[in-house]
Amino acid sequence: MDEGYIKYQADWEKTPPVAESAIEELNQWRNQLYKRGLLGVYPNGIGFGNVSQRWPTEEALFVISGSTTGQFSQLNALHYSLVTKVIPAQNFLYCRGPIIASSESMSHAAIYEQCPAVQAAFHVHHKGMWDFYYGTLPATAADIPYGTPEMAFAIQALVQQAANYEQKCFVMHGHEEGLFAFGESLEEAGKVLINLLDKWQNTQS
Ligand SMILES: [Zn+2]
Repeated sequence: MDEGYIKYQADWEKTPPVAESAIEELNQWRNQLYKRGLLGVYPNGIGFGNVSQRWPTEEALFVISGSTTGQFSQLNALHYSLVTKVIPAQNFLYCRGPIIASSESMSHAAIYEQCPAVQAAFHVHHKGMWDFYYGTLPATAADIPYGTPEMAFAIQALVQQAANYEQKCFVMHGHEEGLFAFGESLEEAGKVLINLLDKWQNTQS
């Protein structure tokens, strides 16, 4: 089913981790999202969800949770990778750290490149929210699958519209259960998701 799409490729330089203090607040949000079931692992063993934060120096674009970390209830600096350069049209990126960057890094990169004020981006999976918010929140199209250059371009087109940007969250209609939130701080991105989750839960009782 993936035929015809350019596969995610990374030039990964294996290096020691960043300082724990550099990912401390990001990691606290990651663990909050894990507790709420917005990222984790499916029964088949495939992990879902990833979190990132803009890197404060020119050394890198952003720091992101690594590939296949969804199964861990707690992460530390060993589970994070620095993305240093992206080539969206080729679905290619450069990263370094003790673990390879998430395969959804290109979607995060699209937001940071398009929106200079954004400091944090969280990608989560939630079937209930995905169904409930499609039609009310902005969305990428159903025929755009995750992890493709088309998704990165669709995200850029979406967030450059002020009305979409203000929502700080969108549904990935072509990526089952997938949603993205972002913010001008970690707290803003996290609170957007938690408020949307609470609002959805209130419709269930
Ligand atoms: Zn996903």
